[in-house]
Amino acid sequence: MISCKKPKVAFFDFAGCEGCQLTVLDSLQSHPELLQAIEIIQFREAMSERGEDYEIAFVEGSYTRPSDEARLCQIRKQAKIVVALGACAHIGGINAIRNMKPMERVKRYVYQDQAEVFQADQALPISAFIQVDAFIPGCPIDRNEFIAAVKVLLQGNLPDIPDYPVCVECKLRENECVLNKGQPCLGPIIRAGCGALCPTFGQGCEGCRGLIPHPNLDSLKEVLLEHGLSSSMIEAKLGLFMTQELRQTEVVHHGN
Ligand code: SF4
Ligand code: SF4
Ligand code: SF4
Repeated sequence: MISCKKPKVAFFDFAGCEGCQLTVLDSLQSHPELLQAIEIIQFREAMSERGEDYEIAFVEGSYTRPSDEARLCQIRKQAKIVVALGACAHIGGINAIRNMKPMERVKRYVYQDQAEVFQADQALPISAFIQVDAFIPGCPIDRNEFIAAVKVLLQGNLPDIPDYPVCVECKLRENECVLNKGQPCLGPIIRAGCGALCPTFGQGCEGCRGLIPHPNLDSLKEVLLEHGLSSSMIEAKLGLFMTQELRQTEVVHHGN
């Protein structure tokens, strides 16, 4: 249980663009009441002070370096609740594209003759190393979902993130399906909660919130093939955010 008085909260960043932390800052500015209810004691993006006795840890970014493991374990040891913030922390996100190639090759390509100087490893979600109590998906996170999640955490509960597909929200908004307009969309297999943001603005879903439980990948691939995408285009589309998540899904699938 977190304390009844103002819980101490910390924000941490691993590999990511820091867009989720910026969304947090933006959300807190428009919800000052939350700043009355929590005490932020560590948030590199926003303040210089650095307390270590936090109870709730929000972690943005993926694991990408061997030294990240010890830092993640330290956060887990201290925090009563650890929340993965955004796609990089939740599913590995865009960073995990590099997992498609052998790491030595990736390092040589990026760092060339300095490859041995820099640490680099596969990009993985933080749950590969520590127990994660909750996640807020998306790239970046949805500000309303973040605010709702903090309020729920303060009540001693965990955020209730939808496990149904984006298509449900898309239909509720009475959008015309972008597939009918010849555009690919991953909405049938992607976790809702964004209000079908991209299809509402005429773009196909790119999958930033990650897979729903038990996605019917084969069926989606068939639909996308029927709409003119080649197999390699489909794989590239699926891999934008979900390279690592799909690998894990395959491991579970083949393990059964
Ligand atoms: S999830 Fe997206 S917005 Fe958030 S840190 Fe990663 S790349 Fe940036
Ligand atoms: S546009 Fe995408 S999310 Fe909306 S109904 Fe069509 S496939 Fe589903
Ligand atoms: S529609 Fe898809 S890509 Fe767009 S915000 Fe929602 S989950 Fe992310």
